Amino acid sequence: MIERLGPALAAPIFETVAVIGVGLIGSSIALAARRRGAAKKIVLSDRSADVLARAEALRLGDETVSDLSAAVRDADLVMLCAPVGANAEIGRAIAGSLKSGAVVSDAGSVKGAVVAALAPILPKSVHFVPAHPVAGTEQSGPEAGFPELFINRWCILTPPVGTDEGAVQRVKAFWEALGSHVEIMSAEHHDLVLAITSHLPHLIAYNIVGTAAELEEHLRSEVIKFSAGGFRDFTRIAASDPTMWRDVFLNNKDAVLEMLGRFTEDLTALQRMIRRGDGEGLFALFTRTRAIRRGIVELGQETAAPDFGRRGAEPSEPTA
Ligand code: NAP
Repeated sequence: MIERLGPALAAPIFETVAVIGVGLIGSSIALAARRRGAAKKIVLSDRSADVLARAEALRLGDETVSDLSAAVRDADLVMLCAPVGANAEIGRAIAGSLKSGAVVSDAGSVKGAVVAALAPILPKSVHFVPAHPVAGTEQSGPEAGFPELFINRWCILTPPVGTDEGAVQRVKAFWEALGSHVEIMSAEHHDLVLAITSHLPHLIAYNIVGTAAELEEHLRSEVIKFSAGGFRDFTRIAASDPTMWRDVFLNNKDAVLEMLGRFTEDLTALQRMIRRGDGEGLFALFTRTRAIRRGIVELGQETAAPDFGRRGAEPSEPTA
């Protein structure tokens, strides 16, 4: 069942919202904000003229503007939705044109590096409220967006200490209007939690699919043929955008390496259990892991439907 956004708000939360980077996330924000009336006017900007032409054809916003500084000039909320590694360059391009009192936010999957890159660049007259919607798919580009993407998903805000509380509350209200539940935490804590819940799973998926790709030809064709045995689910995650994920690993290096270290230790323990024929140990571990999935289903972050929660033609499951 596709979930629905609520009815239009009585008044917009921000008059003008500028979305920079009109890919999966930027286009979904624009569509959801328009549907809920969370913004009166939506201005879209991207470095790619082709993306902007496609966004215009799809009627994702009210205006498309190729010049970044012109795009943000009247914005009350500027939402940076390009890959994390592009933020410093974008920040430098817009800093001089931001309206006093405007709120600058982002959707980046990494927060510590985003704060470090943007906080020194942005003028003191604007409020900086970094955000990460924990929702997405393996698709990219303006055609991939859909307004229901954020419904019942978490959006994590990581405002630096001392951020204006009114600005934080408005960004929170904006994400709630898009259907999200909002949690506030430090950027460091966010990066550690997401390293295990999102970044490491992507790394493992990239690795297992990479290993399969290196197999000899006769084995490789059987991998595709019998992929429903588990491999298929890794291929979906490993199809995620290469630029975005390159930037995630380069910008959350410490937390990812910390979690990868723990993962490697646990994998070695598992290897030992198999070598020693420790069926009890394997059974105990698999029982614990099964309970974790039940907990995720009970919290409404996944369906209990068989076939790994796939829902036919509906949008795929969230990734980052
Ligand atoms: P996407 O579909 O690849 O879209 C990103 C867009 O930003 C592209 O149109 C890209 O143009 C443009 N861009 C790149 N550099 C730019 C620059 N310097 N100035 C202006 N525009 C620029 O990516 P996405 O999946 O929407 O991800 C966007 C952000 O959301 C990332 O920070 C990511 O970490 C975060 N996020 C993603 C997901 C997910 O599941 N995908 C989930 C949560 C958060 P080109 O095509 O020309 O490069």
